[in-house]
Amino acid sequence: MIPRLPLRNTVETDVDRFLQALRHTDFSGEIRADFASRLLSSTDNSIYQILPQAVIFPKTTADVVAIFQLADQPAFQRLTFSPRGGGTGTNGQSLSTGIILDCSKYMNQILEVNLEAGWVKVQPGVVLDRLNSYLKPHGVFFAPNLAPSSRATLGGMINTDACGKGSRIYGRTSDHILELTWVLSNGTTTSSSSVNAQDLAQLKAQSDRIGQIYQQVDEIVTTKQSLIEQQFPKMPRFLTGYNLAKVYDPERKFFDLNRILAGSEGTLAVVTQAKLKLTPIPQYKELLVIHYDCFDRALKASQSLLAFNPAAIETIDETILELAKQDEIYPRVKDFIGDARAINLVEFVSEDATQLQATVEQLGQELNSNSISYYQTSSGSEIAALWELRKRGVGLLGNRPGARKPIAFIEDTAVPPVNLPAYIQEFKELLNDYNLDYAMFGHVDVGCLHVRPALNLQVPQDEALIRTISDRVVALVRKYGGVMWAEHGRGFRSEYTPLFFGEELYQDLRKIKAVFDPRNRLNPGKIVTPFGSEEEVVKVEAPLRGHFDRQVPTTMQADYEVVFSCNGNGACFNVNPDYVMCPSYKGSSERIHSPKGRASLLREWLRQLALNQEGDLDKPANILVKFWNTLIKSIGQYDYSQEVYDGLHGCLSCKACANQCPIHVDIPSLKSKFLQRYYTRYLRSPRDYLMGHIEFLTQWQGKFPRLTNLMMQNFLTKEILRTGLGIIAPQPLSEITLANALQSRNVSFCDRAAPRLRRDLNCLAKADPTNSVILLPDLFTSVYEAPLVLATYDLFTQLGLQVYVLPPLVSGKPLHVLGFLKKFETIAHQNIAYLHALQQFDIPIVGIEPSMVLTYRDEYASFDGGFSLKIQLPQEFLLEQGDRFPQLQCHNSYTLLGHCSEKTLAPASQQQWQQVFQAVGLQLKTLETGCCGMAGIYGYEAEHLATSREIYQLSWEQHLPTDSQAQSYYLATGFSCRTQVQRFTGWIPLHPIQVLQQELGVM
Ligand SMILES: Cc1cc2nc3c(=O)[nH]c(=O)nc-3n(C[C@H](O)[C@H](O)[C@H](O)COP(=O)(O)OP(=O)(O)OC[C@H]3O[C@@H](n4cnc5c(N)ncnc54)[C@H](O)[C@@H]3O)c2cc1C
Ligand code: SF4
Ligand code: SF4
Repeated sequence: MIPRLPLRNTVETDVDRFLQALRHTDFSGEIRADFASRLLSSTDNSIYQILPQAVIFPKTTADVVAIFQLADQPAFQRLTFSPRGGGTGTNGQSLSTGIILDCSKYMNQILEVNLEAGWVKVQPGVVLDRLNSYLKPHGVFFAPNLAPSSRATLGGMINTDACGKGSRIYGRTSDHILELTWVLSNGTTTSSSSVNAQDLAQLKAQSDRIGQIYQQVDEIVTTKQSLIEQQFPKMPRFLTGYNLAKVYDPERKFFDLNRILAGSEGTLAVVTQAKLKLTPIPQYKELLVIHYDCFDRALKASQSLLAFNPAAIETIDETILELAKQDEIYPRVKDFIGDARAINLVEFVSEDATQLQATVEQLGQELNSNSISYYQTSSGSEIAALWELRKRGVGLLGNRPGARKPIAFIEDTAVPPVNLPAYIQEFKELLNDYNLDYAMFGHVDVGCLHVRPALNLQVPQDEALIRTISDRVVALVRKYGGVMWAEHGRGFRSEYTPLFFGEELYQDLRKIKAVFDPRNRLNPGKIVTPFGSEEEVVKVEAPLRGHFDRQVPTTMQADYEVVFSCNGNGACFNVNPDYVMCPSYKGSSERIHSPKGRASLLREWLRQLALNQEGDLDKPANILVKFWNTLIKSIGQYDYSQEVYDGLHGCLSCKACANQCPIHVDIPSLKSKFLQRYYTRYLRSPRDYLMGHIEFLTQWQGKFPRLTNLMMQNFLTKEILRTGLGIIAPQPLSEITLANALQSRNVSFCDRAAPRLRRDLNCLAKADPTNSVILLPDLFTSVYEAPLVLATYDLFTQLGLQVYVLPPLVSGKPLHVLGFLKKFETIAHQNIAYLHALQQFDIPIVGIEPSMVLTYRDEYASFDGGFSLKIQLPQEFLLEQGDRFPQLQCHNSYTLLGHCSEKTLAPASQQQWQQVFQAVGLQLKTLETGCCGMAGIYGYEAEHLATSREIYQLSWEQHLPTDSQAQSYYLATGFSCRTQVQRFTGWIPLHPIQVLQQELGVM
């Protein structure tokens, strides 16, 4: 059995006292000191792992003031604070051993928009994509862009002065800030905007810390003007942290303190509100995908492309294009890429269509004359898909086979674009000196190159290369007049600051830190330490994640390999409610309830198991020991495994992460493995046994539907189920049994007395494979929705097929979800043998319910030597029957809401339904939706009902009509999805098969 995991890393006494005291102030936010919350803030997208003491989630500016006023008291002046947004930093900027101020959970409101004046006011935790989708209907957007726009926050962007695609014409975040509200480490709060000389004089005259800040900054940027001009390279991507060069405008009429705050990485103040400039969305866009046979040629070409003045040029190399082939994005872009081994994405934007066409045509002619192929598009969806490929690039790198993974530490250097080819040549030679593989891509139009060398930081020799390579790259960048941190900020690379600014300006930067934060309490060690203090900045070898990961023996890692590959890119924090990943995170706003959260918990769990291992982890304890363990846990004995359990228990097992995460971090499979081990120590609840074996029970209930309904559909039973077992009672069974329903069509099952396999084989031996289909219904559809199975039978028959209906199989899926892996394995082996035997007839086997079909294809594959059973989804099968379809005269239009697992594990499935409908002359619109919130077992667990409803409301409820006439045109493929709609609204969406069958039936 697994041992108890008592953690020794407890919260320090003064931190604990501070948190207690904070609870007695007006602070209205949330305070967390549990290990799981701390662990979740110990990583970002960097190579570092640093455990904070606690995590505080403020809700308002007043909360942040309350935190710092209390922290300013003598008893707490040792404590330090690091603000955090989306946690997508690539250099550990938000990591610290102090207290984390997470602004993303509650401070995420869009406060006010003024279209006439062209600004929007936001709290710092607003995610960029959310802001831009809110602004889109108004024809404006926040122009600075960055690859993780689906999860990076405005607070983080301001504090790293973020920019990305389009920075050539739109600039950086700091170019779009009108006003910031911020709180100092002593609790003082103020707002800053660009001011004229008169206002500046007044601000400087203030006798408080704010006055001192204005005085100090003005003194430096005025007295050191020529040194600043001389020292700061004239490059669009030159990032300082505290941007001395831009505090005054070129005419030196206006003074803008926000240029110092932008890019300050939380070291000067906590930003609590921002007023940001809006930009009109360009009316016309054209994107060219230019094809090359290698990265070098793509790179060289970018110099001549600059002459056409595009909004962006981004180069993607062969490594990423190759990895993308395994990703769900690839089917959407492959036709535009063709055989190219490297591409340049070149985007043009304009308000003038004629001028735009002229420029693009001119470029096209030049490409044609050089025999360079390209694809040109102005389609919004194609452009979005191609940029999505670019955005997913970094994440995809983690998917590279082998222990060495491309990692971020020298990844955003920039040199003047004219030096780029020579610089890259030397950069490659440098990496070749260490025989390192790497991927390269980036914003070549501004000379910024993303390079991620592949290293295995679990190996000490590779770890040592972090220092060696960083030092050499710094020297190289300086040689070519560039900068080490052109895009992603400094974080743990802060030690190189003096090399780029010179000693004199470096000391001036320290003076700025000193006047804002004299006691070095805000994100200490990043960028600079206060002038006069003995403290040092952080170093590149600060605690690396590899230190922790290598403590887990490789044999133990093997089973959970993918959790060690999660590189924290945060794609699973996507906040778009209509995107499938990750419903439990969106429904709870808790990062623990995300794939990254769960992968982090599991990594630490394996480490703790390795440190505490006593015997065979997989051998269950006897029932008395389990009883005792469960009892003392329930009366408060701490066990870290319980925190892991809590994190995983919130997972819906919807499988979205298995495919949408670029690394394919498949949490449901990991959860099953965890649960199996967890219950070697503890007792399972009766509900687990009941739900795990629900298919067996359903099988019996299906024989007596009326009796079952009588017993289940009454107040008393429902209350007993809810309060006694924590189960929400399911809907009534279909009163007609499948066998009776099929008998009404004169379908008879084969000789029921014979053993199943022989019976079915005998039956099928007589079939004509060219004209037959085997229908394999699942238990739930058969018992709860027998008319749907009948409709499928009717539809296939209407198409002229001989239909062989098999009695439903127990698939074992609920057992898998709950971690009864041994029993699941037995069932899987039986079913694999049975289905393999059926497959010998070469008759297509078709299921109805996506989650079951995909269980046969996905979960079973691990027991089937990786071989996937050929069970088809109905639309896959129907698509092959095109010539059997009659053409309908009516042109009804339907809307489909897909099932999560179907959309992610069979990415073409939605389009296939469209094609099937089109083939018979019907229209089908597919809607982008998130999860319905039911996901099989999850929605029936009483403790999940509220979140299940919340998830439903986030997306499905927004799309479904309330008008009963319109409802009949909305379709859903998932049994869970239809059930969820029924329980929250009372009506049941039809399955596409029912529509096809009805429409064809009334011809
Ligand atoms: C796959 C990937 C691709 C990336 N591509 C780009 C890119 O194209 N362009 C780019 O610029 N960056 C890029 N980054 C880096 C990262 O996304 C940016 O630095 C982003 O701005 C960080 O935002 P965040 O909300 O995640 O902030 P965090 O990482 O949480 O924090 C970043 C810094 O901001 C500070 N901070 C956060 N909120 C506040 C606040 N309210 N007050 C004061 N300080 C605060 C933190 O202390 C920290 O120093 C990429 C990262 C990843 C993972
Ligand atoms: S789970 Fe996947 S998507 Fe989430 S952070 Fe890890 S690698 Fe990225
Ligand atoms: S299975 Fe679904 S709910 Fe669970 S972690 Fe993955 S995406 Fe989130």
